[in-house]
Amino acid sequence: MSTAPTSHSSFLFEFLRLLASERQIPAATLADVVLFAVSEKDTLRFAVPLSLRDRLDAWASEHGLRAASARVGGRRVGDWTVLSPDAGDDIALVVYGRAQEDVERLCSAEVAGDPAVAGRLLGYPACCIAAYEQHASNPTTWVERMVAKSGPGPYPCWANRLPLQRGAITFIGELYPCSFRCTAAVAHGRRVYAAMRQLGLESLAQQTLEQSLYPVDHAAGRIEFTA
Ligand SMILES: [Zn+2]
Repeated sequence: MSTAPTSHSSFLFEFLRLLASERQIPAATLADVVLFAVSEKDTLRFAVPLSLRDRLDAWASEHGLRAASARVGGRRVGDWTVLSPDAGDDIALVVYGRAQEDVERLCSAEVAGDPAVAGRLLGYPACCIAAYEQHASNPTTWVERMVAKSGPGPYPCWANRLPLQRGAITFIGELYPCSFRCTAAVAHGRRVYAAMRQLGLESLAQQTLEQSLYPVDHAAGRIEFTA
């Protein structure tokens, strides 16, 4: 892997400033932006209040990215927000990428509720895309299902999404893994860790690692992770 050019670093640092100043940008998006910054991801997707769209657009446009967006609403189901045009229009679904065709296809797939197409454009593993449809059909029990599918712990920390529930940053980003042990999801998380270090974000990489290793007390039991 080559060293990221300075412009890629400034792309990321400007995003980190946005993330720090705008609490309503989901922390999960950081891992995705890190992979995008090192050109290991072709598209980015955000669901933010409409008032934030212009700031994100300005950041993306400054770095020559293509954009597409739509207005949708959000409906809470458990700890998930299910987006759809039928639920209102107060949320901006914004998509950025290097190719106009990709961002338009991704935006349309997100609005249409087509996770198979959206997941593929976001570069997610096929096994995790398939599992996402199961998670989404009953979002209040996805953790229990993950634990059942993953077998006895401890689990590798790289595909650990659970710290996001307490506002921490993870290596897995917006990807819902099919299992804590999914080889493809673990590889995805490891790539984010490597990319953070490649970009000079050693302390962020270290902190994310520490947070991904915390055990989580959940209705499904005490869930433990290992490096
Ligand atoms: Zn998977």
